[in-house]
Amino acid sequence: MTQAATEWKPDSWRTKQATQQVVYPDEATLERVLADIAKLPPLVTSWEVESLKAKLAKAARGEIFLLQGGDCAESFEDCRSDAIASKLKILLQMSLVLVHGMRKPVVRVARMAGQYAKPRSSNTETRDGETLPSYRGDLFNRHGFTSDERVPNPELMLRGYERAALTLNFMRALGDGGFADLHHPENWRLSFARNAELGEEYQRIVASIREAIDFVQVVAGRSMPAMERVDFYTSHEALALNYEMAQTRRVPNRDGWYNLSTHLPWIGMRTAAFEGAHVEYCRGIRNPVGVKVGPGMTAEWLEQLLDILHPDDEPGRLVLIHRMGASKVAEVLPPLLEVVRRSGKTVTWVSDPMHGNTETTANGFKTRQFDNILSELRQCFDIHAELGTTLGGVHFELTGEDVTECVGGAGGLAPEDLERDYRSRVDPRLNYEQSLEMALLIARKARQ
Ligand code: PEP
Ligand code: MN
Repeated sequence: MTQAATEWKPDSWRTKQATQQVVYPDEATLERVLADIAKLPPLVTSWEVESLKAKLAKAARGEIFLLQGGDCAESFEDCRSDAIASKLKILLQMSLVLVHGMRKPVVRVARMAGQYAKPRSSNTETRDGETLPSYRGDLFNRHGFTSDERVPNPELMLRGYERAALTLNFMRALGDGGFADLHHPENWRLSFARNAELGEEYQRIVASIREAIDFVQVVAGRSMPAMERVDFYTSHEALALNYEMAQTRRVPNRDGWYNLSTHLPWIGMRTAAFEGAHVEYCRGIRNPVGVKVGPGMTAEWLEQLLDILHPDDEPGRLVLIHRMGASKVAEVLPPLLEVVRRSGKTVTWVSDPMHGNTETTANGFKTRQFDNILSELRQCFDIHAELGTTLGGVHFELTGEDVTECVGGAGGLAPEDLERDYRSRVDPRLNYEQSLEMALLIARKARQ
């Protein structure tokens, strides 16, 4: 029997192979925690999920553009007002730059309020001769290097649900109140562009955004409603299937099941096996679903994913996030675009220029070069244009803070600078300046 023909239930994934999960020492506590979460109110609503799906359908057609970004691994300690506000601010600023440059609306999706579970390439970590289980994200275990902290604890899923709720509560309040940044682009920090010519170009773009906002307000005689509210959707990797299952609900007057822990769950590259548990879980929910597509993806595998996750070709349902690496994308992406074209189905193509461009410096820091990230992105725009497909959005690992994790950009961050303020527990993020500059350069590319 094919996978699509078997009955789906929120827990049918348990009959499949679930990779990247943990074994809890105490099954009874796990079941109690899951029952507790299942009784708590949802974090998002089905109408928000449907409204994002409709926007993703437009992104697939090139009518709007998706900006998705946030931490690689959100931590419970990141649930602080400054960290949340600065991430939303940078996403907002980037989105305005993109709206201005691309002349189309931008839908903002934060990797936030639930990005707490991480796939790992090794089950163990060794330091100074001691070997412990790997850190798998705050939803599974703790980061400290002691055996107690690395034991998987199901109570962390309850803590994760609560932190996600607190994060979302503040995101919604900030969004409702609007942001001063929206009305005062002149306050954005552009001083990083030390090269005078580049600095002037960036200043000109920001001044032009400012004029556009003023113009709209003068014409309307007041601030437009769309300028008083800022919408953000949320997304996270649907890795911890117990956590996702406990928040999978039926909704009155709607068909089917929704994952109400986030608007846009995605399946990571390492858990995208078409016969595996993560694909099984995601096939049954009504949310739009993302799938990361790396250089190892084959035509047959992608065809299976299209059959299982996108049987009805529902607009906005499937988001394929390619992450190939700057040196491989030109070779490996076009055949996959052809596979989807041959299927006759429409997907929302998104470029994640981060995950194929990770490297380790001589002094042991995981990093990414700004130029490689930009190169993959530029190639993606060109490849889609040449093949007549649509690049519907971008997916970044970023933070609004001044961390030193990725190298390069107009600020000139060098490998020697990485130790100054490297905070990410897993992958390196673009900092505030690098993120804003990336948006400015995408906007420049889009105008060419
Ligand atoms: C991620 O987005 O943090 C991640 C692990 O990505 P991928 O599945 O593409 O490797
Ligand atoms: Mn990552």
